[in-house]
Amino acid sequence: MAKKVDMKEHILQLMHRPERIKNMGIVAHVDHGKTTTCDSLLAGAGIISDELAGDQTWLDYDQIERDRGVTIKSANVSMVHEYQGDEYLINLIDTPGHVDFGGEVTRALRAVDGVIVLTDAVEGVMPQTETVLRQALKEYVRPMLYINKVDRFVRELKYTPEQMQARFINIINDVNNIIHHYAPSELREKWKVSVQDGSVAFGSSYFKWATNVEVMKRTGIGFAEIIQKVQEEKQDELHQRTPLTDTLLTMVIRHLPDPRTAQSYRMKYLWRGDPESVVGKSLTSMDTKGPVIGCVTKVVNDPHAGLVAAVRLFSGTLRNGTSVRLLGAKIRTNISQIAIYKGPFRLMVDEIPAGNILAIVGLNDAESGETISEVDDMEPFESITHLFEPVVTKSIEPKQPKELPKLINALKDIAREDPCIKVTINQETGENLICGLGELHLEVWQTRLERDWKVNVNVSQPIVVYRETVTKLSPEVEGKSPNKHNKFYITVEPLSEEVRNAMSEGRLREGEVRKKDEELIKTLVGFGMESDVAKKVKFIHSQCILADVTKGQVHLPEIMETVIEGFREAVDTGPLAKEKVSGILVKIVDCKLHEDAIHRGPAQVIPAMRDGIRNAMVSADPLLLEPVQKIRIDAPYEFMGSVASMVNQRRGRTIEIKEERGSSVVIAEMPVSEMFGYTGDLRGATQGKGFWSLIDSKFKPLPRSKIIETINDIRKRKGLELIEAPPAQ
Ligand code: GDP
Repeated sequence: MAKKVDMKEHILQLMHRPERIKNMGIVAHVDHGKTTTCDSLLAGAGIISDELAGDQTWLDYDQIERDRGVTIKSANVSMVHEYQGDEYLINLIDTPGHVDFGGEVTRALRAVDGVIVLTDAVEGVMPQTETVLRQALKEYVRPMLYINKVDRFVRELKYTPEQMQARFINIINDVNNIIHHYAPSELREKWKVSVQDGSVAFGSSYFKWATNVEVMKRTGIGFAEIIQKVQEEKQDELHQRTPLTDTLLTMVIRHLPDPRTAQSYRMKYLWRGDPESVVGKSLTSMDTKGPVIGCVTKVVNDPHAGLVAAVRLFSGTLRNGTSVRLLGAKIRTNISQIAIYKGPFRLMVDEIPAGNILAIVGLNDAESGETISEVDDMEPFESITHLFEPVVTKSIEPKQPKELPKLINALKDIAREDPCIKVTINQETGENLICGLGELHLEVWQTRLERDWKVNVNVSQPIVVYRETVTKLSPEVEGKSPNKHNKFYITVEPLSEEVRNAMSEGRLREGEVRKKDEELIKTLVGFGMESDVAKKVKFIHSQCILADVTKGQVHLPEIMETVIEGFREAVDTGPLAKEKVSGILVKIVDCKLHEDAIHRGPAQVIPAMRDGIRNAMVSADPLLLEPVQKIRIDAPYEFMGSVASMVNQRRGRTIEIKEERGSSVVIAEMPVSEMFGYTGDLRGATQGKGFWSLIDSKFKPLPRSKIIETINDIRKRKGLELIEAPPAQ
């Protein structure tokens, strides 16, 4: 059996042995026991005492601050674990995904190569289990499964061993379904979790025991004995014989890739620079002698130490005194203090090689998601985006005008903290907008603004964000430059559903397409795009694609940058109501350009392209898309009727109704525009017992009957002329 060790020297040595490092996180639905599990792991690794585990939430630094009046502000832990005679360094990153809206979990996932997906044995896969697992898969992070609170099977449900196994299979299938759906296709089968290969464990974190097939074989403890021990209140015996730390960390050591192996396949998705460049090679092979390159995954303000950034180092060796550039802030800075994490404390060290997660103290101006690099002009890492886009906006102003600067700073902090929030600050008009996943999400932040940042604010009514798209192929439309010397012949058409889905799941990277991006061509052709078109894709923006299918146009490549600018402008403000465009393919079929470069500058090309695309869209049966959210509503059985009828009243669609442990569960879809006030109404209709959570968020066509009214509502708000009918209807 493995032995636990915890010594600074061991950590310092293992840090230099990537094959012995594992960077992991734990993701879970709220209340399924993540904090308890982390505590028990730390106790098992000797970092906090057994007695404290369960009482102290060590990864919850706010709590420690409150309890002990100290500021630790670090939520990462490094542990050493021995397996089959070898020691491993396990970096456990806190993935604070508890608030209903994802938030920081997204960023923490960039730092890790694998996660333990934790579920409550009785509740099984819940909405947040699904969203955090999807998010992990999007970051190419390998999942394992841990089913917690198994003691509840015995104490509350009085399960037999057969019933217990049946429930496990149920949960495993649910998890594998999500993996099947959302894992990268080449990893789909390999990453499914299975009892047989030991990538599934189950136990009780509260009582600090866990087991899996291997442990069962080794110890001879089967389901019947587990049931007996729980019934006899002898779970401490299970803790002695099958300790949680040992089972979970062994599972991690066996199934989670080491950082070098993980980078060999993760890099091409997290970074889109040239894989053959010095930087590209160093990132993919995790060269510790290469340039220093890392990604900031969390920034905390420690009143004693200043800003402390948690960084996953992907290349090179970081030393005290190394000069790095913050690519986002465009600042170069000398690193003066670096540390690794040990329990809730930081251990200062002189150098740290790639593959580790470390703390940089005093990295002012750093933001979460930022790339730090020794190389000035490298391509930064892909931005870390949440699964769901913000779809509800409110304008926000301080009650006291003199508090405006304070509000602006607070809004910037919020945008930094929560990747599902978008903040727009308009210095000229003084209008500040905050955009989030829904009314409730914005309310959470409004409360925090007043409580934590001490700014009292007035907010506007919520506004829904729409998208514009087309439903058929347009005729060839001419886009003419103001000087009439340049003409683009353009068609637009809807992208296939497969391509749109791939885009909304973040599988197609946005931005400029490098010459001969074989991978992209293969993907697009796989989704049904003609290969002649796929080869000519120049730019992807806002889930729209620009392809240049012209032949023999020698000057076109010279002005491609301005052509792209015109495309961006057209896509950012659609023809119906100046909402963003989504899901269209724009083809430049032909063009006539002035011989003389001076007559085909940006002032000519941009409007020609932009107006050409807009006109083509108008003749392609344009449509407005509205955000629609899939939610899970839990309410006592007797309220099921009113829950279902509330869904209908709000233009919703019931997808599934089921019963779980005497409660009714309704899975439904509802347009976001109809969800304002829903939380309060649901509580009212269920005597305060009903609650809902978000499963998915997508844009779907607005019913034709509502289009003109909605377009004019938006146009009025934006000060645009009203229209009588949607174009070309
Ligand atoms: P988190 O929200 O995922 O961090 O969940 P917590 O760790 O705070 O746990 C939520 C609740 O579940 C707490 O009341 C825990 O005591 C309880 N809990 C955690 N693990 C177990 C377990 O193994 N068995 C039982 N019965 N309860 C547990």
